[in-house]
Amino acid sequence: MRKLTVVVVATLLILALTAIPTAQIQPYDLLLRNGRIVDGTGSPWYRGDIAIRGDTIARIAPTITEPAARVIDLGGQVIAPGFIDIHTHARRGIFDVPTADNYIRQGVTTVMEGPDGSSPVPLAPFLARLDALPKSINIGSFIGQGSIRSAVIGDVDRKPTAKELDKMRTLVEQGMKDGAFGLSTGLFYVPGTFTPTAEVIELAKVAARYGGMHESHMCDEASSVVESVKETIAIGEQGGLPTHVSHHKIIGVGNWGRSVDTLHLIDEARVRGVDVTIDQYPYTASSTGIQAALFPAWAQEGGREQVLKRLKDPSLRAKIKTESVRLIRSERGGGDPKNVVIARCEWDTSLAGKSLADVARLRGMDPTIENAAEAALWLVEQGGCQGIFHAISEVDLERILRHPATMIGSDGEIPIFGKANPHPRSYGTFARVLAVYVREKKTITLEEAVRKMSGFPAQRLGLLDRGILRPGMRADIAVFDPAKVRDMATFDKPHAYAEGFSYIIVNGQIVFEGGAMTTARPGRVLYKR
Ligand SMILES: [Zn+2]
Repeated sequence: MRKLTVVVVATLLILALTAIPTAQIQPYDLLLRNGRIVDGTGSPWYRGDIAIRGDTIARIAPTITEPAARVIDLGGQVIAPGFIDIHTHARRGIFDVPTADNYIRQGVTTVMEGPDGSSPVPLAPFLARLDALPKSINIGSFIGQGSIRSAVIGDVDRKPTAKELDKMRTLVEQGMKDGAFGLSTGLFYVPGTFTPTAEVIELAKVAARYGGMHESHMCDEASSVVESVKETIAIGEQGGLPTHVSHHKIIGVGNWGRSVDTLHLIDEARVRGVDVTIDQYPYTASSTGIQAALFPAWAQEGGREQVLKRLKDPSLRAKIKTESVRLIRSERGGGDPKNVVIARCEWDTSLAGKSLADVARLRGMDPTIENAAEAALWLVEQGGCQGIFHAISEVDLERILRHPATMIGSDGEIPIFGKANPHPRSYGTFARVLAVYVREKKTITLEEAVRKMSGFPAQRLGLLDRGILRPGMRADIAVFDPAKVRDMATFDKPHAYAEGFSYIIVNGQIVFEGGAMTTARPGRVLYKR
């Protein structure tokens, strides 16, 4: 009996002795040495090494000496969590450019789709298509209220019947079951603009049951921006879910300064327990359709055919023009036809980059505001265009950026390099915050900026295994030189990648290094769990 015990103990000892060294010498796949770790929580940076095994951060320590298949000395560059962009239109481009170079090259490793009330309905086939696509970037989606309303009752200005409302509830529920991160609304757009708040709240309650959030392109970002923020808060408060103001901005010179009031409302709501947050892009121009921006909502009801019919009726046309003049003078148009620039017209690519003043001149008219409105009507008649609108103040931008409940979101897309004249936000948002608002203007600290780009949006979306650098988290990582990082895309020359990033890692694999995309396609579809 005693002999047997000795044998058993000896065997266990041998097993233990052989097991421990095996575990110790199993090499890491990747070791990032000598970095300044900005971990995504907002805490000050610290010096350390990060070891990755598979798709996971295996260890973080002041010095890691164990072997790794690949070791990179970062020479003191910043190691941050890969950035998470909570508000993108990435389905414009992801299937053409699955490497999403414009995002990866500014440190973004996850993009969220389905914003502004607009998403594929149902969501599952779209997510399955994305899943089958070899891609560099992670992608998730919201389910869009506008798309659901459009599918159920069309782009019309009326309330739904009880049966239609039920159908919409079912579609929201289906979207959430398919993996949506919440309900998005675009109450500025047709048909979102025809939706009573109470109806949005009914649908928000469905998303709430599945742990989703609500995010909104609000009804108005100009003269009624304060009322719109109130509505967004009400949707969260009465819908029983986190609510979120997308791309918060104040449009129109006459409205500048109102971010004081909107942020005050958000602070008050948070104090009484409403979970409301914000995202923002760091530019003083917005981008959307010319028709959406410069036509009154009533003129857009019922789809394109109806719009064209109204434009043919002289008295309705005059009414639309009067409203367009007002919108150019005191809202999106920034008070000057030069402040509205065409990003893209599918029917005439040569118009990209021209302003409404240019279009008026091309049509043989002086570039007055009245003629610019006429030019806008003409553009819509021809087929419509995406526009860029310079009408935001820097003071409001910085005030919103400093707010602790503000995160960064590009509102961008995945452009085909060199094609059309997109808003530079698609290429530059994250790098611009780091270059202009951290390094140059010192509006916020580096750690705060990184928190707004990673840990904060991850927490918001419930991506509990991303957004922070810590062992056990997925290895989505951006490495950059804080002295060199900068956005290169401008309104005149938007097709330019950000600079200063040296390595971008997605799910443990390097997708960008040495100034070029690699062949790795480790991007995943993310689902709300
Ligand atoms: Zn939007």
